[in-house]
Amino acid sequence: MSLLDEISAASKMRNRTCIVVDILDELAAEDARELQVALDDRAMTHTAIARVLAARGYPINPSGKQVAAHRRGTCSCR
Ligand SMILES: [Zn+2]
Repeated sequence: MSLLDEISAASKMRNRTCIVVDILDELAAEDARELQVALDDRAMTHTAIARVLAARGYPINPSGKQVAAHRRGTCSCR
């Protein structure tokens, strides 16, 4: 691997998305908008959001860990 390839790969790793962003990208525009509203609304629990997404077949942990990390800004997309 060339030096440039290596730097490019490292850069992509730093900018990779998390499962929450992957799901937002996959959802239809209206559903993505509603998910973003839910994520911004602290009355919606991490677990409730994750369970609904998991029930719809998205590969998210229903415990809500990834939703919590995304909301706190500690996930891999930040
Ligand atoms: Zn994230």
